[in-house]
Amino acid sequence: MRIVVDFDLCESNAVCMQIAPDIFEVRDDDFLYILNETPGEADRERVEECVQRCPKQAISIADD
Ligand code: SF4
Repeated sequence: MRIVVDFDLCESNAVCMQIAPDIFEVRDDDFLYILNETPGEADRERVEECVQRCPKQAISIADD
């Protein structure tokens, strides 16, 4: 699983960080950083929740 974020869509509202702070971090510079682009299967449920709850639909999962 690889996390893909469309940074043109992301508005750094940190919804994803609230769900998975070990994977997503919005820093003081107001940009989103992906701390772990390739989390394991154990994290899939949380990442899918991020995908669903991102208000900008900026997150997707690539399985490659
Ligand atoms: S929830 Fe979506 S819009 Fe908000 S910081 Fe995460 S990727 Fe960006």
